[in-house]
Amino acid sequence: MTIEDKLGVDKFHTDEINSHIEVDKESTDMEEIQKVIKACPAGLYKLDDENHLLFDHLGCLECGTCRVLSKGKIVKDWEYPIGTRGIEYRMG
Ligand code: SF4
Repeated sequence: MTIEDKLGVDKFHTDEINSHIEVDKESTDMEEIQKVIKACPAGLYKLDDENHLLFDHLGCLECGTCRVLSKGKIVKDWEYPIGTRGIEYRMG
């Protein structure tokens, strides 16, 4: 079973209104931006055609990688989703 197969059986109870991660989308620090783009296993950090940082919390795996790499820089705030929201792992 591949990683994609395993992730495909997880359930997301996403809070579509409130993001649990606050990102500095105005940042122009490409070194920091490239860190989170390359490290996020869910591919949630992207650049648009004009090199503006895009981020969407939907699909977050709550691994904390972006928090460890860039807290206080690209990642302005990081909390677990509230209550029963977030990812429900079903394959370990
Ligand atoms: S916590 Fe993990 S999955 Fe979620 S945005 Fe950060 S790096 Fe990506």
